[in-house]
Amino acid sequence: MITLKGADVSAKIKEQVEGLLTGRTGRTPKLAIVRVGERPDDLSYERGALKRLEGFGLAGQSFPFSQDITDDAFKKEFAKINDDPDIDGILLLRPLPKQIKEKDIIHMIHPEKDLDGISPENIAKVFAGDDTGFAPCTAEAVVEVLKANEIPLTGKRVAIVGRSMVVGRPLSMLMLKENATVTICHTRTENIKETCKNAQILVAAAGRARMVDVSYVGQDAVVVDVGINVDEYGKLCGDVDFDSLDGTASMATPVPGGVGAVTTAVLARHLVMAAIKNKTREII
Ligand code: NAD
Repeated sequence: MITLKGADVSAKIKEQVEGLLTGRTGRTPKLAIVRVGERPDDLSYERGALKRLEGFGLAGQSFPFSQDITDDAFKKEFAKINDDPDIDGILLLRPLPKQIKEKDIIHMIHPEKDLDGISPENIAKVFAGDDTGFAPCTAEAVVEVLKANEIPLTGKRVAIVGRSMVVGRPLSMLMLKENATVTICHTRTENIKETCKNAQILVAAAGRARMVDVSYVGQDAVVVDVGINVDEYGKLCGDVDFDSLDGTASMATPVPGGVGAVTTAVLARHLVMAAIKNKTREII
Protein backbone atom coordinates (compact mmCIF):
# COMPACT_ATOMS: atom_id res chain seq x y z
CA MET A 1 0.00 0.00 0.00
CA ILE A 2 1.34 3.43 -0.97
CA THR A 3 1.22 6.15 1.68
CA LEU A 4 -0.03 9.44 0.21
CA LYS A 5 1.95 12.05 2.12
CA GLY A 6 0.46 15.49 2.68
CA ALA A 7 3.89 17.12 2.66
CA ASP A 8 4.45 16.19 -1.01
CA VAL A 9 1.13 17.76 -2.01
CA SER A 10 1.77 20.82 0.11
CA ALA A 11 5.18 21.30 -1.57
CA LYS A 12 3.42 21.38 -4.96
CA ILE A 13 0.95 23.98 -3.69
CA LYS A 14 3.87 26.05 -2.38
CA GLU A 15 5.32 26.12 -5.91
CA GLN A 16 1.95 27.30 -7.26
CA VAL A 17 1.77 30.04 -4.62
CA GLU A 18 5.31 31.19 -5.47
CA GLY A 19 4.32 31.26 -9.14
CA LEU A 20 1.24 33.38 -8.36
CA LEU A 21 3.40 35.87 -6.46
CA THR A 22 6.24 36.09 -8.99
CA GLY A 23 6.86 39.60 -10.21
CA ARG A 24 4.52 41.26 -7.72
CA THR A 25 5.89 43.91 -5.44
CA GLY A 26 4.49 45.64 -2.40
CA ARG A 27 2.62 44.36 0.61
CA THR A 28 2.61 40.73 1.81
CA PRO A 29 -0.88 39.07 1.76
CA LYS A 30 -2.24 38.90 5.29
CA LEU A 31 -4.60 36.42 6.98
CA ALA A 32 -6.55 37.12 10.17
CA ILE A 33 -7.26 34.06 12.31
CA VAL A 34 -10.24 34.83 14.53
CA ARG A 35 -10.46 32.65 17.63
CA VAL A 36 -12.86 32.81 20.55
CA GLY A 37 -11.62 30.92 23.62
CA GLU A 38 -8.67 28.55 23.93
CA ARG A 39 -9.89 25.18 22.65
CA PRO A 40 -6.84 22.92 22.18
CA ASP A 41 -7.87 21.90 18.64
CA ASP A 42 -8.31 25.59 17.66
CA LEU A 43 -4.91 26.45 19.12
CA SER A 44 -3.29 23.56 17.30
CA TYR A 45 -4.93 24.50 13.97
CA GLU A 46 -3.94 28.15 14.47
CA ARG A 47 -0.29 27.20 15.16
CA GLY A 48 -0.23 24.97 12.07
CA ALA A 49 -1.77 27.65 9.84
CA LEU A 50 0.59 30.41 11.05
CA LYS A 51 3.61 28.14 10.54
CA ARG A 52 2.45 27.23 7.03
CA LEU A 53 1.90 30.89 6.09
CA GLU A 54 5.37 31.77 7.34
CA GLY A 55 6.85 28.91 5.32
CA PHE A 56 5.06 30.21 2.21
CA GLY A 57 6.31 33.79 2.86
CA LEU A 58 2.83 35.07 3.79
CA ALA A 59 1.61 36.98 6.84
CA GLY A 60 -0.81 35.78 9.51
CA GLN A 61 -2.14 37.36 12.67
CA SER A 62 -4.19 35.79 15.42
CA PHE A 63 -7.16 37.74 16.83
CA PRO A 64 -8.03 35.96 20.09
CA PHE A 65 -11.16 36.83 22.07
CA SER A 66 -12.34 35.75 25.47
CA GLN A 67 -14.67 32.71 25.66
CA ASP A 68 -17.35 34.83 27.36
CA ILE A 69 -17.31 37.81 24.96
CA THR A 70 -20.89 38.98 24.25
CA ASP A 71 -22.55 38.61 20.88
CA ASP A 72 -22.60 42.41 20.41
CA ALA A 73 -18.98 42.95 21.38
CA PHE A 74 -17.79 40.11 19.15
CA LYS A 75 -19.75 41.43 16.17
CA LYS A 76 -18.19 44.87 16.61
CA GLU A 77 -14.68 43.40 16.74
CA PHE A 78 -15.38 41.08 13.82
CA ALA A 79 -16.68 43.99 11.72
CA LYS A 80 -13.39 45.88 12.29
CA ILE A 81 -11.34 42.90 11.06
CA ASN A 82 -13.76 42.29 8.18
CA ASP A 83 -13.49 45.90 7.00
CA ASP A 84 -9.74 46.31 7.57
CA PRO A 85 -8.19 46.95 4.12
CA ASP A 86 -4.85 45.50 5.31
CA ILE A 87 -6.45 42.09 5.86
CA ASP A 88 -6.91 40.02 2.72
CA GLY A 89 -8.52 36.94 4.23
CA ILE A 90 -10.19 35.65 7.38
CA LEU A 91 -10.21 32.23 9.00
CA LEU A 92 -12.90 31.98 11.68
CA LEU A 93 -12.29 29.07 14.06
CA ARG A 94 -15.58 27.32 14.80
CA PRO A 95 -17.77 26.37 16.54
CA LEU A 96 -18.19 29.69 18.34
CA PRO A 97 -19.47 29.76 21.94
CA LYS A 98 -23.26 29.50 22.25
CA GLN A 99 -23.86 33.19 23.13
CA ILE A 100 -22.55 34.26 19.70
CA LYS A 101 -24.96 33.89 16.81
CA GLU A 102 -22.68 32.08 14.38
CA LYS A 103 -25.23 32.39 11.56
CA ASP A 104 -24.99 36.20 11.73
CA ILE A 105 -21.20 36.07 11.42
CA ILE A 106 -21.45 33.71 8.45
CA HIS A 107 -23.67 36.30 6.76
CA MET A 108 -21.39 39.18 7.79
CA ILE A 109 -18.07 37.90 6.47
CA HIS A 110 -17.14 39.46 3.11
CA PRO A 111 -17.22 36.58 0.58
CA GLU A 112 -13.95 37.81 -0.98
CA LYS A 113 -12.24 37.45 2.44
CA ASP A 114 -14.02 34.21 3.35
CA LEU A 115 -11.13 31.86 2.63
CA ASP A 116 -12.77 28.80 4.24
CA GLY A 117 -16.01 29.00 2.27
CA ILE A 118 -18.50 29.55 5.09
CA SER A 119 -20.52 32.43 3.57
CA PRO A 120 -23.77 31.69 1.69
CA GLU A 121 -22.26 33.15 -1.50
CA ASN A 122 -19.23 30.87 -1.45
CA ILE A 123 -21.29 27.81 -0.50
CA ALA A 124 -23.70 28.53 -3.37
CA LYS A 125 -20.76 28.74 -5.78
CA VAL A 126 -19.39 25.38 -4.61
CA PHE A 127 -22.81 23.79 -5.12
CA ALA A 128 -23.17 25.43 -8.55
CA GLY A 129 -19.76 24.16 -9.66
CA ASP A 130 -18.56 27.77 -10.00
CA ASP A 131 -14.89 27.98 -8.94
CA THR A 132 -14.67 31.79 -8.69
CA GLY A 133 -15.29 31.68 -4.90
CA PHE A 134 -13.61 29.80 -2.05
CA ALA A 135 -14.50 26.21 -1.16
CA PRO A 136 -13.96 24.95 2.41
CA CYS A 137 -10.20 24.30 2.60
CA THR A 138 -10.44 20.73 3.94
CA ALA A 139 -12.86 19.62 1.22
CA GLU A 140 -10.61 21.17 -1.44
CA ALA A 141 -7.56 19.55 0.19
CA VAL A 142 -9.04 16.08 -0.35
CA VAL A 143 -9.45 16.72 -4.10
CA GLU A 144 -5.95 18.23 -4.15
CA VAL A 145 -4.42 15.07 -2.62
CA LEU A 146 -6.06 12.93 -5.30
CA LYS A 147 -5.14 15.24 -8.19
CA ALA A 148 -1.54 15.76 -7.06
CA ASN A 149 -1.12 11.99 -6.98
CA GLU A 150 -2.68 11.65 -10.43
CA ILE A 151 -5.58 9.53 -9.19
CA PRO A 152 -8.34 9.83 -11.81
CA LEU A 153 -11.77 10.92 -10.59
CA THR A 154 -13.81 10.96 -13.80
CA GLY A 155 -16.43 8.21 -13.72
CA LYS A 156 -15.07 6.74 -10.46
CA ARG A 157 -17.26 5.54 -7.61
CA VAL A 158 -16.54 7.75 -4.60
CA ALA A 159 -18.00 7.16 -1.13
CA ILE A 160 -17.74 9.88 1.50
CA VAL A 161 -18.46 9.06 5.15
CA GLY A 162 -19.81 12.26 6.74
CA ARG A 163 -22.29 14.91 5.61
CA SER A 164 -21.11 18.03 7.46
CA MET A 165 -21.05 21.48 5.84
CA VAL A 166 -17.30 21.62 6.49
CA VAL A 167 -16.28 18.43 4.73
CA GLY A 168 -18.82 15.87 3.45
CA ARG A 169 -21.34 18.05 1.62
CA PRO A 170 -18.99 20.50 -0.12
CA LEU A 171 -16.61 17.65 -0.94
CA SER A 172 -19.42 15.76 -2.67
CA MET A 173 -19.95 18.80 -4.92
CA LEU A 174 -16.22 19.20 -5.66
CA MET A 175 -16.06 15.49 -6.56
CA LEU A 176 -19.11 15.85 -8.78
CA LYS A 177 -17.39 18.72 -10.57
CA GLU A 178 -14.57 16.26 -11.31
CA ASN A 179 -17.17 13.91 -12.84
CA ALA A 180 -17.02 11.33 -10.05
CA THR A 181 -20.09 9.30 -9.10
CA VAL A 182 -20.62 10.22 -5.47
CA THR A 183 -22.38 8.55 -2.56
CA ILE A 184 -22.57 10.29 0.82
CA CYS A 185 -22.81 8.04 3.89
CA HIS A 186 -23.80 9.15 7.38
CA THR A 187 -25.04 7.85 10.71
CA ARG A 188 -28.38 6.70 9.22
CA THR A 189 -26.92 4.94 6.17
CA GLU A 190 -27.96 1.30 5.88
CA ASN A 191 -25.36 -1.27 4.89
CA ILE A 192 -22.63 1.36 5.13
CA LYS A 193 -19.81 -1.17 4.89
CA GLU A 194 -21.11 -2.55 1.59
CA THR A 195 -21.53 0.95 0.12
CA CYS A 196 -18.00 1.90 1.17
CA LYS A 197 -16.54 -1.40 -0.03
CA ASN A 198 -18.02 -0.78 -3.46
CA ALA A 199 -16.19 2.57 -3.77
CA GLN A 200 -12.99 2.99 -5.76
CA ILE A 201 -12.18 6.06 -3.66
CA LEU A 202 -13.27 6.19 -0.02
CA VAL A 203 -13.11 9.38 2.04
CA ALA A 204 -13.56 9.14 5.81
CA ALA A 205 -14.79 12.32 7.50
CA ALA A 206 -16.89 11.06 10.40
CA GLY A 207 -14.81 12.19 13.36
CA ARG A 208 -14.73 8.64 14.83
CA ALA A 209 -11.33 7.29 15.83
CA ARG A 210 -10.27 4.38 13.54
CA MET A 211 -13.90 3.59 12.66
CA VAL A 212 -13.09 2.70 9.05
CA ASP A 213 -11.17 -0.56 9.06
CA VAL A 214 -10.49 -3.02 6.27
CA SER A 215 -14.11 -4.28 6.38
CA TYR A 216 -15.15 -0.94 4.75
CA VAL A 217 -12.52 -1.04 2.01
CA GLY A 218 -12.67 -2.65 -1.42
CA GLN A 219 -9.67 -4.29 -3.09
CA ASP A 220 -7.27 -1.64 -4.51
CA ALA A 221 -9.37 1.29 -3.29
CA VAL A 222 -7.78 4.66 -2.55
CA VAL A 223 -8.55 5.79 1.01
CA VAL A 224 -8.40 9.40 2.16
CA ASP A 225 -8.63 10.02 5.91
CA VAL A 226 -9.89 13.46 6.94
CA GLY A 227 -10.46 12.62 10.61
CA ILE A 228 -8.47 14.21 13.39
CA ASN A 229 -9.25 12.43 16.64
CA VAL A 230 -7.63 11.54 19.93
CA ASP A 231 -7.85 7.85 20.83
CA GLU A 232 -8.38 6.31 24.27
CA TYR A 233 -4.61 6.58 24.96
CA GLY A 234 -4.54 10.30 24.11
CA LYS A 235 -2.84 9.62 20.76
CA LEU A 236 -3.72 11.61 17.61
CA CYS A 237 -5.41 9.37 15.04
CA GLY A 238 -7.67 9.49 12.00
CA ASP A 239 -11.03 7.92 11.18
CA VAL A 240 -9.22 5.10 9.39
CA ASP A 241 -7.50 2.09 10.93
CA PHE A 242 -4.54 2.65 8.59
CA ASP A 243 -2.54 -0.48 9.49
CA SER A 244 -5.50 -2.78 8.78
CA LEU A 245 -5.66 -1.66 5.11
CA ASP A 246 -2.32 -3.05 3.99
CA GLY A 247 -2.87 -5.64 1.25
CA THR A 248 -6.37 -4.30 0.47
CA ALA A 249 -6.18 -0.55 -0.25
CA SER A 250 -3.83 0.51 -3.04
CA MET A 251 -3.11 3.91 -1.45
CA ALA A 252 -4.06 5.73 1.75
CA THR A 253 -3.34 9.00 3.55
CA PRO A 254 -1.92 8.80 7.09
CA VAL A 255 -2.94 10.82 10.16
CA PRO A 256 -0.99 12.85 11.07
CA GLY A 257 0.85 13.80 7.89
CA GLY A 258 -1.99 13.50 5.40
CA VAL A 259 -4.92 15.81 4.57
CA GLY A 260 -4.25 18.16 7.52
CA ALA A 261 -0.96 19.37 6.02
CA VAL A 262 -2.69 20.06 2.72
CA THR A 263 -5.60 21.99 4.31
CA THR A 264 -3.32 24.78 5.52
CA ALA A 265 -1.52 24.87 2.16
CA VAL A 266 -4.90 25.32 0.42
CA LEU A 267 -5.69 28.09 2.91
CA ALA A 268 -2.41 29.82 1.97
CA ARG A 269 -3.26 29.55 -1.73
CA HIS A 270 -6.71 31.02 -1.08
CA LEU A 271 -5.05 33.91 0.75
CA VAL A 272 -2.85 34.74 -2.23
CA MET A 273 -5.82 34.47 -4.60
CA ALA A 274 -7.84 36.83 -2.37
CA ALA A 275 -5.00 39.34 -2.25
CA ILE A 276 -4.54 39.23 -6.02
CA LYS A 277 -8.27 39.70 -6.60
CA ASN A 278 -8.12 42.79 -4.43
CA LYS A 279 -6.76 44.93 -7.25
CA THR A 280 -6.73 48.17 -5.27
CA ARG A 281 -3.50 47.20 -3.54
CA GLU A 282 -0.19 45.78 -4.66
CA ILE A 283 1.03 42.67 -2.91
CA ILE A 284 4.57 41.39 -2.28
P1 NAD B 1 -19.02 16.57 12.11
O1 NAD B 1 -19.13 15.93 13.47
O2 NAD B 1 -19.61 17.88 11.85
O3 NAD B 1 -19.65 15.56 11.05
C1 NAD B 1 -19.40 14.18 11.08
C2 NAD B 1 -20.26 13.48 10.05
O4 NAD B 1 -19.94 12.10 10.08
C3 NAD B 1 -21.76 13.61 10.30
O5 NAD B 1 -22.36 13.98 9.09
C4 NAD B 1 -22.21 12.22 10.70
O6 NAD B 1 -23.46 11.86 10.12
C5 NAD B 1 -21.12 11.33 10.17
N1 NAD B 1 -20.85 10.22 11.06
C6 NAD B 1 -20.46 10.29 12.37
N2 NAD B 1 -20.34 9.04 12.88
C7 NAD B 1 -20.66 8.18 11.88
C8 NAD B 1 -20.73 6.78 11.81
N3 NAD B 1 -20.44 6.01 12.86
N4 NAD B 1 -21.12 6.23 10.64
C9 NAD B 1 -21.41 7.02 9.57
N5 NAD B 1 -21.34 8.35 9.58
C10 NAD B 1 -20.98 8.93 10.73
O7 NAD B 1 -17.47 16.53 11.76
P2 NAD B 1 -16.63 17.38 10.66
O8 NAD B 1 -16.47 18.75 11.10
O9 NAD B 1 -17.16 17.09 9.29
O10 NAD B 1 -15.21 16.67 10.80
C11 NAD B 1 -15.04 15.28 10.53
C12 NAD B 1 -13.64 14.87 10.94
O11 NAD B 1 -12.71 15.60 10.15
C13 NAD B 1 -13.29 15.22 12.39
O12 NAD B 1 -12.43 14.21 12.90
C14 NAD B 1 -12.55 16.52 12.29
O13 NAD B 1 -11.64 16.72 13.36
C15 NAD B 1 -11.82 16.31 10.99
N6 NAD B 1 -11.44 17.56 10.29
C16 NAD B 1 -10.21 17.58 9.74
C17 NAD B 1 -9.76 18.69 9.06
C18 NAD B 1 -8.41 18.64 8.39
O14 NAD B 1 -7.87 19.67 8.05
N7 NAD B 1 -7.85 17.46 8.17
C19 NAD B 1 -10.60 19.81 8.96
C20 NAD B 1 -11.90 19.75 9.48
C21 NAD B 1 -12.31 18.60 10.14
